[in-house]
Amino acid sequence: MPPSTPHRPALVVVFGDQLDPDFPALRASRFPGDTVFMAESVHESRHVPSHIQRTVLFLAAMRHFAHDLHARAIPCDYTTLDQAQGRPLDELIADAATRHHASIIRCVEPGEWRIRRMLEALAARLSLKLEILPDTHFIATPDDFRAWASTRSSLTMEYFYREQRRRTGYLMEGSGPRAKPRGGQWNLDHDNRESFGKHGPSPRPRPPLRFEPDAITRATIADVRRLLPNLPGSIDSFAWPVTRADALAALRDFIDHRLPLFGPFEDAMWSTEPILYHSTLSAPLNLKLLNPRECCEAAIDALSAGRAPLASVEGFVRQIIGWREYIRGIYTLEGPAYAERNGLEQHGKLPWFYWNADTDMNCLRTCISQVLSTGFGHHIQRLMVTGNFALLAGVHPRAVSDWYLGMFIDGVDWVTLPNALGMVMHADARVPGGPALVGTKPYVASGAYIDRMSNYCQDCRYNPAAKTGDEACPFTVFYWDFLIRNRERFASNQRMTMILKNVDRMPESTRTQITISATTLRRTLGVT
Ligand code: SF4
Repeated sequence: MPPSTPHRPALVVVFGDQLDPDFPALRASRFPGDTVFMAESVHESRHVPSHIQRTVLFLAAMRHFAHDLHARAIPCDYTTLDQAQGRPLDELIADAATRHHASIIRCVEPGEWRIRRMLEALAARLSLKLEILPDTHFIATPDDFRAWASTRSSLTMEYFYREQRRRTGYLMEGSGPRAKPRGGQWNLDHDNRESFGKHGPSPRPRPPLRFEPDAITRATIADVRRLLPNLPGSIDSFAWPVTRADALAALRDFIDHRLPLFGPFEDAMWSTEPILYHSTLSAPLNLKLLNPRECCEAAIDALSAGRAPLASVEGFVRQIIGWREYIRGIYTLEGPAYAERNGLEQHGKLPWFYWNADTDMNCLRTCISQVLSTGFGHHIQRLMVTGNFALLAGVHPRAVSDWYLGMFIDGVDWVTLPNALGMVMHADARVPGGPALVGTKPYVASGAYIDRMSNYCQDCRYNPAAKTGDEACPFTVFYWDFLIRNRERFASNQRMTMILKNVDRMPESTRTQITISATTLRRTLGVT
């Protein structure tokens, strides 16, 4: 054996969205010898306005994680908000590296370009070696995604999803090149578009398990209230999973009680049921308290045991190995410049009611009130209510992505940026005037869609079918205005042909009236 070289101590930096007890940076380290470093930074909680429940969730989960490391005799240098005294994260890491005589900064690939750049600059400034390890949480690596993208003329999620099904073998029959999707179809979305009758969901969805704050979480809440006053949202209902054990219990709860009806009603909304049959597992997944493989496998086990139908399980698996990994692939493939894209050249401000729910539009008031009180909104509320409205009204895509990043408990940059810019705002064309990357057409809908998929319109002062007059639904006015404004831009998009024909059939006087109403509305709402 060669003589052993002296150990070069590493500072093992664990970020708040990397709380996997078996993460590669921990496995690659030697304890004692190396030291884990975790820090709470005021700046990280304030660089976009962050909902108090999101802030508490991240910090409480970090504190529990550090507590577990201590129990495993892994040395963890933890800086609380109090101890940080307002200093930025790079300063805190630099001080810790000096304190522990580290010659290496080791971490797993951060989920945000901004943090990666900060680490590179810091390591260069301090002449430390920077060791960034791949994030094994994901099934497809950035290289896998790049290789797939390099063979495609357009980056349609469906084809990436099929590749992921083959890669994992999930819901496949047979093996190798002859493997076929279970049930004969890749995608059962056509079975998953049901809405509720006039009496609402039946059976009534069982609400997710609540994890009442323990002593660590209560102390976190007190610190956040004291040191980060005036964060948006309310903390009163906080009961999210903050440990791996909580997260596993939340997974079991979803599989047993909501998965069976998740699929058919995944696009439905109901004013008194904020969660419906959704999982609410995106936050523990994004914090890495849960692994995507164990979530998919638990759902597939339920299918095999006859406890959930294929349409629900396929829809859930597609959300995780399809959409979630595809969105992360887009983030890593496109790089930091993606954040600056604004393909539809929209420059409006986010209406003020996104921060206080003070609007007479019942759908928006319901969805935003829910976000303010819980930090949660399910995907169709995000895409087709809050997102759809911002797109139709002409809001700047970054205003929307910052709102999603800060106001939802599962907000992390690699998720919210491509979701907002790509999926919601149709803004991610690589070149001005070019085709968008994530969506082949914008997800836009008038009030009629919301009326069909929810009961919001029943208690609203507006009429979802009206596009002119006092009762005209703002969604419907903005929907037609969006199509009128972008008529030429989408003229060559075959998926828009039928919709644009409706614009062409409209009398000139109606078009003019819609344009005037939309302009007035935009001004009244503070968009322009
Ligand atoms: Fe929303 Fe329009 Fe329906 Fe009112 S009528 S709830 S504004 S979609």
